[in-house]
Order: sequence, then structure tokens, then C-alpha cells
Amino acid sequence: MNPFRYERAHDVPGAVSTVAGARGAAYLAGGTNLVDLMKLGVATPELLVDVRRLTSDGVEPLPDGGVRIGAATTNSALAADETIRRRYPMLSQALLSGASGQLRNLATTGGNLLQRTRCVYFQDLTTPCNKRKPGSGCSAREGHHRSLAILGASDACIATHPSDMAVATCALDAVVRTHGPEGARAIPVTELHRLPGDEPDRDNVLHHGELITAVDLPPLPFAARSRYRKVRDRASYAFALVSVAAALDVADGLVRDVRLALGGVAHKPWRATTAEQALRGAPAAAASFRDALEAELASARPLSGNAFKVALARNVAVETLRELAREE
Ligand SMILES: Cc1cc2nc3c(=O)[nH]c(=O)nc-3n(C[C@H](O)[C@H](O)[C@H](O)COP(=O)(O)OP(=O)(O)OC[C@H]3O[C@@H](n4cnc5c(N)ncnc54)[C@H](O)[C@@H]3O)c2cc1C
Ligand code: SF4
Repeated sequence: MNPFRYERAHDVPGAVSTVAGARGAAYLAGGTNLVDLMKLGVATPELLVDVRRLTSDGVEPLPDGGVRIGAATTNSALAADETIRRRYPMLSQALLSGASGQLRNLATTGGNLLQRTRCVYFQDLTTPCNKRKPGSGCSAREGHHRSLAILGASDACIATHPSDMAVATCALDAVVRTHGPEGARAIPVTELHRLPGDEPDRDNVLHHGELITAVDLPPLPFAARSRYRKVRDRASYAFALVSVAAALDVADGLVRDVRLALGGVAHKPWRATTAEQALRGAPAAAASFRDALEAELASARPLSGNAFKVALARNVAVETLRELAREE
């Protein structure tokens, strides 16, 4: 047991200055990831600053027609929100595909985006892991890597980001609102998480002490016809081997616009910009979907244990787009 202190912050500036001023401090939201990592000895914060009552815990309209999701909104409340279900169904579906009802009742919007990889070696103190202990090596490359990255990995790390919600918000062009020691920032979700490069210990671009206060979704009318599809080893309570978040806008048989992101394939949610570009203006048909996904996945560098993911990602994305096109 590593001793730690617990504080409840009273306002955002107070929380930020407390955490930014202490190297060993961390924010605590639902605790469903952080507390597990503390029990394993992977995270050893000296001070936990509870932020569950600090920011909004609901969904509100924005003047531009989009919506703002408070960082403390639970995954359950967000998935059940009537506006989210009607206008951004892929987000509700992504949330409901994750964890269990009990966990979703505790897990928050801010914490979900910042949960850490489920690479088994990251959670096992007895094995080398560059993400947990920089410079110690990567046990997964020659070890168990069936669930790990096929895109954007580095020699240092092949971990994947585990969040389903992050994949849907990435496809929706969501923007993360933060408050840090240097003031407020707006960060597109597509730029929040990093590829591992030589610094796999850094999951995202936030500075120490920077607090997520909200996530904004832009108005995207065609996202009302969108879908999240997740392939995993069990029907529930399992992380994605591959997932797809897609929205499709078809006019006269041609793709007018599309949003596509893949999960379970990289250190960050993977926005499929190459496929999107190839699809705009193309026939909304299986052949175009397949060509676009093959172009997107041309840069995949799988290992022996996860090579199946390349075809899986392509097929799941093509089927999801075909379903959306049929609904049009
Ligand atoms: C058995 C199990 C199965 C799961 N299955 C899935 C799954 O299939 N799909 C999926 O997506 N997730 C899954 N999860 C993960 C779960 O969704 C996350 O644990 C949860 O979303 C984290 O939210 P939290 O509020 O509990 O975060 P916490 O555990 O409290 O925090 C997580 C991290 O975020 C930081 N943090 C929290 N809030 C803020 C903030 N506002 N600003 C800045 N930093 C902050 C914390 O310091 C910590 O580093 C599973 C978890 C478990 C235990
Ligand atoms: S893949 Fe990344 S998280 Fe997993 S063992 Fe290698 S360095 Fe650690």
C-alpha cells in the first residue's frame, strides 16, 4: 500500500494550481482506471484531487448548434442523453459498448479520454515496459501483442488506446476544453492523444495539472445517421480488437461527406483521413469503401500475432459504411 492524500477541490483554478504545483499529484474522477493502477503499483500518486463535483455533469446546447458535455458527465448519463442518442448515435453506442453498467455509472467523460493502455505488460511491474518505465524495453513486441497496434507504432511501444468514447469523439471532430496553469485551451480530440515515438510514457499532449473541463461536439447534421461497431473477444466487458466509428452523407448515390475513425489499432484513436478523402465524391458502394480502406491501411505494420487486424479493420469498416449507405 502506497500512502496518499485525498483532497476535494472547490473550484477549477484551485484544483489546477494544487495539481500543477505538486509533481506527485493527480486528478481523481470516477477512479475506475486510476485506482486500479494504484492497486497494481503502476500509478503511485502522493495526492489525489477529486474533480467529480468541479465541472458540469450534463449536456448543454451551444450557440453554434453543437453541444457541450461537462467533464464530470458519467458515461451512463451521456449514453442515455436524448440529444446524444438522436443527433450523435455513434457516441451513445460507443459508450454502451464499453465496460459494464456499474463502471459506466462511475466513469466520467474526462477520465474516459485519459484512461491508460490495457497492454498486459504495462500493468505488470515484473516485466520491462517503456511506457511504465522509460528505457526498460518493450515486452509486447516479442510477447503477447494480439490486441496491440498495427498503425503508427514505434520500436519503443506498440500499445493501443483503449477508449471507445475517444474513437467516436475523434470521428465527430470533438474539441476538448481544458484549464491549465497557463490558462484555457481548446484541443481537437484528434490532437489530444499522441503516437508513441520515442516517448511512449506520454499518452497525450496535456501538461501536468491541465484539467479537462468539457468536450464540445460540433453540429454535424449527418451524424444523426452514424454507427459505432466494436469487435472483441467477448460480447461484453472486453476492450476492442478493432472498432469503427462512422457517419455517412450520401446524395444521388455519391458520398457527399463522411467521418471515419478506427479504434484498437493505434496508440491513439485513428482518424481515417486517407479513406475519407478517397470517399468524398465516390459512389457509395462496396467497391469504393473497400478501396478507401485499403488505401488507409496501406501503412499498417502488423506483427505476427496481430496481422489479422488489418483485414478485420478493413472488413468491419466496409460493412459499417455499407449498412449506413443502405439506410440512406
Ligand atoms: C473491467 C473494466 C472494463 C472496461 N472496459 C472498457 C471498454 O470496453 N471500453 C472503454 O472505453 N473503457 C472501458 N473501461 C475503462 C473505463 O471506461 C475507464 O476506466 C473510465 O472511463 C475512466 O473514467 P474515470 O472517470 O473513472 O477516470 P479515473 O480513473 O478517475 O481517471 C483516469 C485518468 O484521467 C485523469 N483524469 C480524470 N478526470 C480528469 C479531468 N477532468 N481532467 C484531467 N485529467 C483527468 C486521472 O488523473 C487519471 O489519470 C473498462 C474499465 C474496467 C475496469
Ligand atoms: S507495448 Fe508499450 S505499454 Fe506494452 S510493453 Fe511495450 S512499451 Fe509497454
